[in-house]
Amino acid sequence: MTGVGFIGLGNMGGPMAANLARAGLRVQVFDLLPDHLIAAGQAGCHCAASAAQAVAGCDLVISMLPAGEHVVGLWLGTGSGDIVGNGLLAALSPDTLVIDCSTIDVASARAVGEAARALGHRFIDAPVSGGVAGAVAGTLTFIVGGERADFEAAKPILAHMGQNLFHAGALGAGQIAKMCNNMLLAIQMAGTAEALALGVKEGLDPAVLSGIMAKSSGSNWSLERYNPWPGVMEKVPASRGYEGGFMTRLMVKDLGLAMALAEHAHSAVPLGALARNLFNLHASRGEGERDFSSILNLYREPE
Ligand code: NAD
Repeated sequence: MTGVGFIGLGNMGGPMAANLARAGLRVQVFDLLPDHLIAAGQAGCHCAASAAQAVAGCDLVISMLPAGEHVVGLWLGTGSGDIVGNGLLAALSPDTLVIDCSTIDVASARAVGEAARALGHRFIDAPVSGGVAGAVAGTLTFIVGGERADFEAAKPILAHMGQNLFHAGALGAGQIAKMCNNMLLAIQMAGTAEALALGVKEGLDPAVLSGIMAKSSGSNWSLERYNPWPGVMEKVPASRGYEGGFMTRLMVKDLGLAMALAEHAHSAVPLGALARNLFNLHASRGEGERDFSSILNLYREPE
């Protein structure tokens, strides 16, 4: 391997690139925000003056950007990339493995993947689960769409940033699987908050009720591992004022992607749509930057 080009050094990309550098790889990085670039340099990455410079000479490149328009803009040059009208795919060395880790709409992932292949490159969509804490700790889950051989080729690199590596299927399948998972998570979290709020209003202790449901048929990840009621569980966002974790606005974004997917598939998602409305309402009340388990506050009586 000659080196890794890494574009997008925000909350997720910054620590992911740092983990690659910590593993001894040469990581050439770029971000539009100078502060993010400086932080990556301090973490051992090589700072580039442009995205094109970051990918120069690399046989593997990674992007970690906010949304589909940024990914399309960067790689195809039709949007907000730094080389608009002249996408970065055209600047890559032959047969480069392109890994997009952003959570984006399936159509954008497929468009970039197909364009990469047309230019003789390899591409996988590899969105992650695990949040900022997982990115820092190198324990992310990667959910990959694309050719199995390309997934196998990416595995040694992904293993420096994550613990669980899944091949979901063909191009775009990583995004589809991630959207299904996050839609289920949103439904589960809202349902857990609703059940806890009901029990507490009728006089139950939230810890006692959580313990009972965790060992009964209502058991689920949000209840057992990420309990939304403050003080029931240590080291979860609910017990530190819903700071850190997975921001409500990002859940709203993912639910929007799931709704678009459902429309494309002509698949009914009534619970997903309701969850999207609930999280959207919650975000509109100024809770967008708090962890998504703060949805509990929609149900709870103010103290
Ligand atoms: P972020 O906004 O913190 O970081 C995005 C970075 O991309 C920013 O530093 C921005 O300057 C940079 N950027 C945008 N366009 C660019 C361009 N053309 N060239 C270079 N840099 C560019 O976002 P994040 O929280 O790191 O999330 C990144 C992706 O990961 C998103 O798709 C998000 O949905 C997904 N994700 C986030 C989390 C989370 O908890 N934050 C968890 C799982 C998945």
